[in-house]
Amino acid sequence: MSAADWQRIDRLPNIYCAGCGNGSVINCTLAAVEEMGWTRENTVFISGIGCSSRAPGYILTDSLHTTHGRALAFATGVKLANPALNVVVFTGDGDLAAIGGNHFIHACRRNVDMTAICMNNQIYGMTGGQGSPTTPRGAISTTTPYGSAEPVFDLAELAVAAGANHVARWTSYHVKELMAAIATGLQTPGFSLVEVMTQCPTNYGRRNRLRQVSDMIEHLRTHALLVQKRDRLIREGKPIPEGMFVVGELVRRHRPAMGVRA
Ligand code: SF4
Repeated sequence: MSAADWQRIDRLPNIYCAGCGNGSVINCTLAAVEEMGWTRENTVFISGIGCSSRAPGYILTDSLHTTHGRALAFATGVKLANPALNVVVFTGDGDLAAIGGNHFIHACRRNVDMTAICMNNQIYGMTGGQGSPTTPRGAISTTTPYGSAEPVFDLAELAVAAGANHVARWTSYHVKELMAAIATGLQTPGFSLVEVMTQCPTNYGRRNRLRQVSDMIEHLRTHALLVQKRDRLIREGKPIPEGMFVVGELVRRHRPAMGVRA
């Protein structure tokens, strides 16, 4: 099999806007799943609501497209009912960190054996461009027409603090690193969060002076700070440059986990 064999060709074309980053994330995920040697029979994809959460509909396995913010709760049930299944969750920043915020921290705390892939486009894409918990300060959305005044959640650091066994962050630009991070997450017993900073040209870019898809990808590339460089800056007592976000593996550990097959 190849990664392409996991796709439901009959559902194409997909609903994503031209230039959306979600397709790259799905491709990297399927390549990682294929690399693991998993089969369509023992793998389940679960999602909530949002553009990210349409992903399981394009994959040729059993899947659950659940209610907004609740994907991790459904996924926990699936995994505990049948630990032999490989469980992968697709979610977005609004789905995971706002509406599903409590499910998120408790899935990390319980360290349930699954991999959650969060397509963080820093806005609610599907529902009309409202601000989310990761919309940067000053960014324009339909609910922050004068610029967001709120501090943001750092999803990856939140997952580390809440107890997940594996946490990494990359972007839709870093496809090789992203695929490797997802593969590591799939292999790590316990909860894995792979956060992917990705572009939403329709609802974020055009409102925030990133009108071209290439502008958005360049922005992701130039604002990604390798975790090793972040650590060096800290050691040297230097500040993290404004607007940068950390990429790389933030944690890999072996806390006791729930739902690990015997
Ligand atoms: Fe992608 Fe944004 Fe379009 Fe949704 S609204 S499909 S996130 S570009």
